[in-house]
Amino acid sequence: MIDLRTLLLAMVLTDLILAVSLWIGAGRGMRDGLGTWIASLLVRASGVTIFALDGLAADPNAIVLAVGLVAFSMTLQAAALLAFGGRRLPTWVHSATFAAVAMPFLLLSGDFGARVLFAGVAFGTMLAMLAGITLQLQAPISRGTRGLAIGSFAVASILFFLRAVGAVWSVDPLMGFIEPNLFQTLTFAGGFAALLASSSGVGLMHKERADAAAARLATLDPLTGAYNRRSFHETAERELARARRAAQPLSIIILDIDHFKAVNDKHGHKVGDEIIKTLADIVRAQLRKEDMLVRFGGEEFCVMLPQVPGPGAVVVAGRIRKAVASDPVIIDGREIPLTVSLGVAARLDEGPESIDELIARADQALAMAKERGRNRVVALSLGRSIAA
Ligand code: GH3
Ligand code: MG
Ligand code: MG
Repeated sequence: MIDLRTLLLAMVLTDLILAVSLWIGAGRGMRDGLGTWIASLLVRASGVTIFALDGLAADPNAIVLAVGLVAFSMTLQAAALLAFGGRRLPTWVHSATFAAVAMPFLLLSGDFGARVLFAGVAFGTMLAMLAGITLQLQAPISRGTRGLAIGSFAVASILFFLRAVGAVWSVDPLMGFIEPNLFQTLTFAGGFAALLASSSGVGLMHKERADAAAARLATLDPLTGAYNRRSFHETAERELARARRAAQPLSIIILDIDHFKAVNDKHGHKVGDEIIKTLADIVRAQLRKEDMLVRFGGEEFCVMLPQVPGPGAVVVAGRIRKAVASDPVIIDGREIPLTVSLGVAARLDEGPESIDELIARADQALAMAKERGRNRVVALSLGRSIAA
């Protein structure tokens, strides 16, 4: 049988090591409640230290403080999980819960069985709530990670309820705490495992979120949220091959802001960036979700329209042109009139054409649109060149 004090001290050490590991792992990105979670580990470590050093025999007030600290660590964990989901736990919940757990515990002084019963029910309920919060987290988390976190809270919750039941049934509850028996050892070992697993789960949740953000960064343009050129190439080659196999149409539109240098010179680069961002939104509003908006660079965008033939793409391009030209863009209260020129090219049936060749034709069409006076659509290789 393991000595319970040893086990409690091991818990304290584990909490401290977990806190340090999470802190190191976070680097400079201490966000989404990770700092609060780390705080919860430190608070729990201090609470459990009091248990481990004093046991039950010592100063009764120390135990009350320890129980209050463990309760506080749980509300901190609730706050951390809610923060991960973009929600907030009102601050008063911490003090209210501390009082709601510590006060009755203080009043039950002298009745060890009642204390174990009360703490078991209180902590069991709080841990069940932590499992519930994790279950309801809207954030994208893998099933395994969510399962690990929920499972560890649920197991810890059940163990506390079992302790409560044990306190009711135990013939001599005073034997319970310090004396190593099988029940105690099992519940504490289980609690230890749950404590480790819940922090691993939270660490994984944060890592998954960071990985997703990194993947987004690698494929998306940070200013506009449109795809970047590199990710476009990968997707476009695949789409083009698929369209060819299935003998389906595919079109692309390349668009470029007219006289943007003048706009930049007049309003400054920062306003220019805002305009580029707004333009991306205007274009996106004209697209289906299968279409891919790509920032080619500067103020030049490309749109890939799978399963859309040339004439259909000309219609879309015409809609984009009108949407941009119809109202001035408003940045910082300034009204800035804006127009774009658009070049359209569609996949040809004859011959295997690369995505670069398709882009080159759309570019050529765009050059013609600029040449012909801007604020217009030109399409090439639809059998003839059409202007819209
Ligand atoms: P045109 O009608 O022929 O397209 O004329 P233009 O002035 O728009 O010429 P061009 O398409 O070559 O535009 C290049 C200018 O766009 C240069 C620069 O001032 C501006 N620009 C390019 N990239 C950015 C960017 O990321 N942010 C901002 N604010 N301006 C950019
Ligand atoms: Mg331009
Ligand atoms: Mg340009």
